[in-house]
Amino acid sequence: MRYADVAVDITAKALDRPFQYGIPAELENEVEEGVVVEAPFGNGNRIIRGYVLSVTDSPRIAADKIKNITAVVTRLSDEEQRLTALAVWIRDRYGSSLAAALRTVLPARKKTAARQKRVVCLAVPRDEAERELDVMRSHHQSARVRLMEALIQEERLPYEVCTGKLHVTAAVIRALVQKQLIRIERTRVFRNPAPDEAFSHRSVELNEEQRRAADCILKAMESKPDCRFLIQGVTGSGKTEVYMELIAHVVDKGKQAIVLIPEIALTYQTLMRFYHRFDGRVSVIHSRMSAGEKQDQFDRAAQGDLDVMIGPRSALFTPFPNLGIIVIDEEHEESYRSEQSPRYHAREVAFRRGTLEGACVVLGSATPSMEASYAARNGGIGMIRLDKRAGDSVLPETRIVDLRGGTLASGSLILSGELQDAMRSALDRREQIMLFLNRRGYSGSVICSSCGHAMRCPHCDVSLTLHRDGKLVCHYCGYTEDMPGKCPECGSGYLRTFRFGTEQVESTVKQMFPDARVLRLDRDTASGKDGELKVLSAFAGHEADILIGTQMIVKGHDFPDVTLMGILMADLSLNVPDYRAGERTFQLLTQAAGRAGRSGTGGLVMIQTYMPEHYAVKCAAAQDYDAFYEQEMEFRRDSGYPPSGSLTAVHMSCPDKEHLDLAGNYVRKFLQRVIRDAPVAILGPTDEPVARIADVWRTALYLKGGDGAYLRRIRGWLEKYIEINEGFSNIEITYETTI
Ligand code: ADP
Ligand code: ZN
Ligand code: ZN
Repeated sequence: MRYADVAVDITAKALDRPFQYGIPAELENEVEEGVVVEAPFGNGNRIIRGYVLSVTDSPRIAADKIKNITAVVTRLSDEEQRLTALAVWIRDRYGSSLAAALRTVLPARKKTAARQKRVVCLAVPRDEAERELDVMRSHHQSARVRLMEALIQEERLPYEVCTGKLHVTAAVIRALVQKQLIRIERTRVFRNPAPDEAFSHRSVELNEEQRRAADCILKAMESKPDCRFLIQGVTGSGKTEVYMELIAHVVDKGKQAIVLIPEIALTYQTLMRFYHRFDGRVSVIHSRMSAGEKQDQFDRAAQGDLDVMIGPRSALFTPFPNLGIIVIDEEHEESYRSEQSPRYHAREVAFRRGTLEGACVVLGSATPSMEASYAARNGGIGMIRLDKRAGDSVLPETRIVDLRGGTLASGSLILSGELQDAMRSALDRREQIMLFLNRRGYSGSVICSSCGHAMRCPHCDVSLTLHRDGKLVCHYCGYTEDMPGKCPECGSGYLRTFRFGTEQVESTVKQMFPDARVLRLDRDTASGKDGELKVLSAFAGHEADILIGTQMIVKGHDFPDVTLMGILMADLSLNVPDYRAGERTFQLLTQAAGRAGRSGTGGLVMIQTYMPEHYAVKCAAAQDYDAFYEQEMEFRRDSGYPPSGSLTAVHMSCPDKEHLDLAGNYVRKFLQRVIRDAPVAILGPTDEPVARIADVWRTALYLKGGDGAYLRRIRGWLEKYIEINEGFSNIEITYETTI
């Protein structure tokens, strides 16, 4: 007898592991990896469906307790089979439920998904229709007459035309269908998000640097189709042109490409470049699409109607028949990490999919993530640099404005005198200005506005957060201290949290520059359909002189006439309680700086900061990635954070705080028991940065240590422990694994 491990696709968490079923002799030849089977389940032996993950000769439990598969339903398509294998890997790598992993890679098909086009057709020969028409006329059935007259002329009419222009009700149409005089045909139309208007686009010839980059990767692909590369190229160096060149080669070989782009950075221009280059055999998915709309695009991909899929994280699971390349643009972006279980990272999953399907993976960024850079420097991925801007634009001049010593105290609380002067002269020259308020994370951190000292945890080297009860708390280890009355560094009484927003910046700017036209882009003004696009195109069309905004204004958009970029509070993002704070800050500042002076006139970037000496600020101002990498890596090595060491987070949530705290302590005790004297640190349990959301309390534990494989093994033991303990049944647990 042979046995099959079947993934039962039921949502109940306890049922999540694969179940073993016997394969009856008559199905022996049909049951293999990837087929969908039916089998009895539970006490009632209700028939359920599941995927066969693997087939073995050895039963895991007593053979007489194993039920048999009752039927084979269908095979998964080859694409689906490969994606199922990817789901199994995701489950093992990130510790989610198998059902959640399967849902991630094979999104559930919604019944109502397809939008159908209905056409009303004449179902009888014309002469017969004429006779019926006469009868209708004699009965004064004017609606029926209108419809029949029109159909005798046209034979086929869109349903909407009948109900619209002809004013025929659905009831009348139904009546004629019943009399079999007409019928309704349904054709499924794929919703194509591509604009079909004509567009013109000049094609470019790769410059020498780009040519070399493309050739290097193409050559590697010949001997190793699943090779991996990181293209580190300054903004505007023409990475997108290189991607398109690589994709063109892949498509020529009859293979397909996936291009991941952080949604916020996908511009209309970029999209048009792809449409032009690949004859429209390109599709895009984005988060505002319904599940059905996404499914349509995935179906087109599976049917071979597409060569290129562009989209955010989830586009990674496009079921292409013969995937040749995965490009991840702006690979350092946070949006590539899923916030829900499974908490996967698109870069890692792309590598895995590349290996499974023999596809090349190309990462691109001006400011690569520490993980990608580390891998590029220590083997595993090839590294290519593009150091020149492709067009005629030059990098802007950068100036750091030191806010310490009460620079802001006089006059404006937001704009330094230097920045105000620069704004005035830009306005005089009729040039455009962008003001970027760095408000990443949230504003609980405490900084001395006299000397710039930030309150940090002595054990974890991340910022402490001020709680409502006046205590400073570390969100990694739970360390707590009283909020001091004076700055421990300089003794001044100016310790404060920063809680101002873009609206305050806007009103200050309007007061100071009453004649300037000001636009603001943040979550509020960007809401609604195309809200963000409206603001950005208004600014691009010179309907305003100054654009004030959050992260949204620094990503991907080109404004050639912006000559001044003011970064208002560069260090706010240094003080979020996250070991990646320095990396995020460097990336944001570098990106923001890249926004100014793109048209060849040069430009000025002013970085206002309380921490002018911090290497993230200094290196961003100097646009020096390598210097930043070296210093940041030193910090990661010293403190054991990824990519130097591995980190596993156990996120737990529950509406009952007491119960959650108890469970957290049990987890800690369990981990202490299994880890004993292995070099792994257990941090927490401690409140998450946002300790309660919608009345559900949230806490986390962290495992920090050198060896990723070992941490994953520990996580496996923890999963089993949690599974067999009733006490955890009403606690939601997700794992997050880095390296
Ligand atoms: P990146 O993706 O690195 O930011 P892009 O590929 O978007 O850079 O290129 C930036 C700009 O330079 C685009 O307007 C692009 O059309 C132009 N460009 C890129 N490569 C070339 C080239 N070889 N010749 C002329 N213009 C180029
Ligand atoms: Zn101080
Ligand atoms: Zn700490």
